[in-house]
Parts: sequence; C-alpha cells; structure tokens
Amino acid sequence: MKEIILCKYGEIVLKGANKKYFEDMLCREMKKRAKAYGSFDIYRAQSTIYIEATDEMADIDGMFEAAKKVFGIVTVSRAAVCEKDMDAIAKTVREYIPEFLKSAKKFKVESKRSDKSFPLDSMEISREIGGVILECCRGIKVDVHNPDIVVKVEIREFGAYVSAGVSKGAGGMPVGSNGKGLLLLSGGIDSPVAGHMLAKRGVKLEAVHFESFPYTSERAKEKVLDLARLVAVYAGDIKVHIVSLTHIQEELVKHCEEDYFTLLLRRYMMAIAEKIARSHDCGALITGESVGQVASQTMQALGVTDSAVNIPVFRPCIGLDKEEIIQIARRINTFDTSILPYEDCCTVFTPKHPKTRPDLAKVLVQEQKLDFDALVEEALGTMYTENIVAEY
Ligand code: ATP
Ligand code: MG
Repeated sequence: MKEIILCKYGEIVLKGANKKYFEDMLCREMKKRAKAYGSFDIYRAQSTIYIEATDEMADIDGMFEAAKKVFGIVTVSRAAVCEKDMDAIAKTVREYIPEFLKSAKKFKVESKRSDKSFPLDSMEISREIGGVILECCRGIKVDVHNPDIVVKVEIREFGAYVSAGVSKGAGGMPVGSNGKGLLLLSGGIDSPVAGHMLAKRGVKLEAVHFESFPYTSERAKEKVLDLARLVAVYAGDIKVHIVSLTHIQEELVKHCEEDYFTLLLRRYMMAIAEKIARSHDCGALITGESVGQVASQTMQALGVTDSAVNIPVFRPCIGLDKEEIIQIARRINTFDTSILPYEDCCTVFTPKHPKTRPDLAKVLVQEQKLDFDALVEEALGTMYTENIVAEY
C-alpha cells in the first residue's frame, strides 16, 4: 500500500497573481526539508502539496513531523493511495483505517469527488465506505454531527486517497514572502518567541546578538546560537551577527548616571541594530519586548528606545503576558534552552533604581556625555557572523 502526505495551505494568502509565487515557495521549502528524510517526490495540484516517498527507506513519520513545521501550511494529513475503483478503495480502507480508529468511538465519512467521471457521487461513496468501516472496526458508531474522527475519501486526479484525521500545520505565510527582519536575539525567553512569530508571518530572519566579553561568557553566546538553531527549525537558516558592547558599557559606567545605564544601552543596541539592518537589507528590527515587563519596557522607556532609530520596530510580544510567551516558547521548544542560567549583557551593570518613566531630554543629556556615533561605529567594527544552517 502506498502512503503519501498531503499538505494544504491557506487559501486566504494565495490570492490572484501571488498564488503561484507562494506555492513555489512552499514546494521549495518542503523539498529542502525532505532531504533529511530520504527520497521523496514533491509536487502540487488542486491547492495541495503531495509528498510521496520514492524508495522504501524514506522516513515518512519524520517527514510528516517536518511538514507540520512549514509556515504557510494549514493542515497535514497522511493518506493511503489506491486506484479509483470502489473495490480497491474498500480494500484500502480495511487495511489502512482501523489503526487510526483505535481510540475513537464515533466517526463519520466525508467524501469528495474532484473527478466527476467517477460513477458514485460523494454521498454514495460515504455511505458505502461507512458500511465497510462498521464491518471492520468493532464497537464504533457513526455520528455525523459530533464524530471523534473523520475518515476522508477523495477521488482526485491521480487516484483515490483514504485518510483519517488531520494534523494542524504551522499556519502563517511562507518564510521569505514578507521581506527580512533583524531579530535582536538575547538568551532570554522572549526574543526567540518574537522571531518565531514574525517568521510565521513570512518574514525571513537575520539576528544580532550583543555580548559583553569578559562580563558575559563564551557559553552564554553558545546558548544564544543554540536558540537560533531552534528558531531555525521553523524559520530556516539564520545569520547571527555578534557585536561586542563591552567598551560601550565600560564608558557608560565611567561617565553616565547609573539610573540611566539600561536605557542608554538599549539605545545603543537599537542604533547598532539599525545600521546592521540597513546594510543587510532588513526592513525592520524585531525585539521580544512586552509592555510593563521590566523597567526598560514601560511605555515611556519604549518611547525613549524607539527614538534612537528611524526604522520600524516590530515587537510581537508587546501585548502578551509572560505566561503566554512561555506557552509559545514551550511549544516551539526554545523554553528549556532559554532558562539555562547564563548572564546577558543587559544583566551586567544593571542600575539599582532604573528610570521607569524616563524623560527623553534627560536621557539625551546623559547620552551626550559620550560620542554616541563613534561608539556605535567602533562596536560595528567588532562584528562577526555565525551562519546557522537549519537542521530540520
Ligand atoms: P528576553 O527574554 O528575550 O531576553 P527580556 O524580557 O529579558 O527578553 P530585556 O533583557 O529587557 O527583556 O530585553 C528586551 C529585548 O531586547 C529582548 O527581547 C531582545 O530582543 C533585546 N535584547 C536584550 N538583550 C539582548 C542581547 N544581549 N542581544 C540582542 N538583543 C537583546
Ligand atoms: Mg533578556
């Protein structure tokens, strides 16, 4: 029996002339991911991507899980394929379906006939296949209103497909379909989630991480690269630019009022990130900030941070509670890495009484004690890049 994977994408994003562009992107993405799981034939028809193993060694279970992580895919299901003939379909249902119905009490059959030359209509197919299932699965009942599982029979161009149950895909839009953004990636919980959320909306990611060696360690940086690897499982390859803030932080400590350290540092981060974004074709910065989460994320503090740059700043976690961010972090598998206890450059030299309602004019007085532009340029001079290649 031949089993294939069917991936359906959201019609909403696939309007008009863009449709082919999105479909090609999705197919390319699937093909890239399939390489790790063996040899597959991947093609599309009728708003569905078909993934078909071309040799027996191919890992269909692995590919099924990988397909669920492709942004732009709404549902993923596995189906057995057979000839467009009722006897063949009934035989396939008997062999393939009971396994899926083991823990179900109620089912219904839904049939769809894209090939109108098929002699039975969809109602007739459903009725007949419902009977086959009642014969071969004991203790199960038909319930068309509230089934535990839906068995589908589809008569399509290339054959008949029999499946039971669908899994949710990653949703969103294909990565790369909405430009590129520069993620400010710390070792915390929020920024990997922020990156994931924008990647889900089709934004390709590049990242910048600020370190403060020797106040931050090599292992803290490795942790951030591990987080980038985890984000890349969904978002694809990520270039991570690493920039040292050591000298800036030392200068702030020497010359500026302690209460302003964090705010001033955040303005440096944003300004450096903006320069990197502009030279790497990124249309926006992405951060993990959330209103009121810490002193530097009050509305006034965010205003002060924003005014350091002249590029859109996307903060997808802005209205989420920490608990909600953690839920996403767990689901995308970054949480356990994020909570490893390494220091971040934001956590060295933190003021005891940070300004929570800062006044921009006073911040600028502090900022003007240093040569802002020269320090930004000097920090950019320390930049080096790690290429994170997605492992699916
Ligand atoms: P996270 O959990 O992502 O670390 P946080 O709640 O700890 O966020 P902050 O440390 O104030 O918040 O940082 C706010 C945002 O600033 C982060 O989400 C991230 O986008 C960015 N950021 C903070 N530290 C760094 C860093 N060392 N390198 C790059 N970006 C950073
Ligand atoms: Mg942090």
